[in-house]
Amino acid sequence: MVKTYIVTGASRGIGLEFVEQIAARGDIVFACVRNPDSSKGLQALIDNKRVFGIQLDATCDKSIKAAAEEISSKASEGVDILINNAGIGGTMGLNVENTSKEEYLKVFETNVTGVSEVLKAFLPILRKRGQENVKKVLNMSSMLGSIADMETGDGLGFGSAYCVSKAALNMLTKMFASQLAKENFIVYSSHPGWVKTELVKHPGGDDAPTEKKDSIAGQLAKLDSLTAQDNGGFFDFNGKPMSW
Ligand code: NDP
Repeated sequence: MVKTYIVTGASRGIGLEFVEQIAARGDIVFACVRNPDSSKGLQALIDNKRVFGIQLDATCDKSIKAAAEEISSKASEGVDILINNAGIGGTMGLNVENTSKEEYLKVFETNVTGVSEVLKAFLPILRKRGQENVKKVLNMSSMLGSIADMETGDGLGFGSAYCVSKAALNMLTKMFASQLAKENFIVYSSHPGWVKTELVKHPGGDDAPTEKKDSIAGQLAKLDSLTAQDNGGFFDFNGKPMSW
């Protein structure tokens, strides 16, 4: 059966690859981007039948509301899967001693409160699928948000704000998972691997070992095979459980 997805941060990188692979399966995808005209890659995929381009800035309430209304009007039967992928890396190389309050707030606004606001606004669209259908939410986290796996403290060059934001996102995942379990939702955090994208354009980033296509194929396979036991979990792109 054809599934309907929403993907945020679909202009490039991991988000765009999700849109490509979802479209290639013949499923329907609402590809949310801050500036729909800025992404040639996405423009080439939009056909307004299976792939729809939607303007969405995850830090702007007005934009989130408008996006929810537009998707709701186009998806009268609702949406099965929300992929909260939009995220920023913040300033590279900052540690806990030199990260400012402004830096934390900037990164949290996209990576934590942005995800929360988008998820809250899109819940009615997911709920349209009814109690009998499983609704799935993937929050794009990172191994850098894993407290248990924080061994070196250098965050692979990413600043403290990024690592702390992904740890906070993981708690947000758990709390939404707990809240929505009775409504037949599965909400989980995903680590996409270390993938060569704009986000990892820094010294060492060229060594990123995970191919975009493998990361997304693995994450889509996990989405396909999720069970109720996975609600509130944290998995890597191969579906392997991650430590919180
Ligand atoms: P990119 O920088 O290539 O893509 C980030 C995407 O997020 C872009 O589409 C960008 O849109 C969008 N975005 C940023 N801010 C906003 C906003 N306020 N509203 C809407 N969209 C926004 O990075 P990746 O593809 O690598 O990252 C995708 C996700 O994967 C992120 O959450 C990241 O933290 C996570 N991740 C990535 C890893 C990697 O190795 N690449 C590892 C672990 C996690 P725009 O074009 O408008 O800037």
